[in-house]
Amino acid sequence: MDKKIEEKIHALDPRFKKKIQDLFESMNESISMLYEAATHDEKTGLYNNKFFETIFDMEIEKAKRNQQKLSIVMTDIDFFKKINDTHGHMKADEFLKRLAEVIQKQVRGSDIAARFGGEEFVILLPETDLEKAKRFATRLKTAIHSDKILSKYHVTVSGGITQFKEKDNKKKMKERVDKALYQAKETGRDKFVALK
Ligand code: GH3
Ligand code: MG
Ligand code: MG
Repeated sequence: MDKKIEEKIHALDPRFKKKIQDLFESMNESISMLYEAATHDEKTGLYNNKFFETIFDMEIEKAKRNQQKLSIVMTDIDFFKKINDTHGHMKADEFLKRLAEVIQKQVRGSDIAARFGGEEFVILLPETDLEKAKRFATRLKTAIHSDKILSKYHVTVSGGITQFKEKDNKKKMKERVDKALYQAKETGRDKFVALK
């Protein structure tokens, strides 16, 4: 709390002091809850698409201005429709949440992992070139394969990887990572394809 406000509250009649303190506390709580709801996906707890898009814009600007590396990994669960049909919507939702946890465990503090759409997750890797992004994807794939629940139910993902290059923009990067993901699906799934 602001020091001046704190001093003012301190000077108040003790009967009001408690009330005002409680009011400030609940206001702060509401702000935190609003921030959480505006930036996070309710189902998985990862960042939501809107927040991701904002950060993506900012990171592209940073990459352009400072000639910094920037990579993106787009993942999509394989045959998720079939998983829903076989195990039911609730169990499929559990797999979504579990996958989000596995992804979150693999990323660094400066990375942004978000739920891009239904069963699609995106990971933005600032200051990371394509080779490092590929190594990240390999680690992620290993983590998915060795996860107790995901491996038991044969939940796998396909992914695309690309990096920021000269004269790039968000649209071009998205198209490239989509194309890479499509190639991963077309060539057998349960794999990551990188496109420069
Ligand atoms: P592919 O390997 O080609 O990606 O096959 P797919 O079946 O995963 O592809 P498709 O995009 O056709 O289907 C995605 C399915 O994911 C459709 C939808 O029912 C399911 N899905 C999307 N969001 C959710 C969700 O929040 N919960 C559950 N349980 N299912 C979801
Ligand atoms: Mg999909
Ligand atoms: Mg899918």
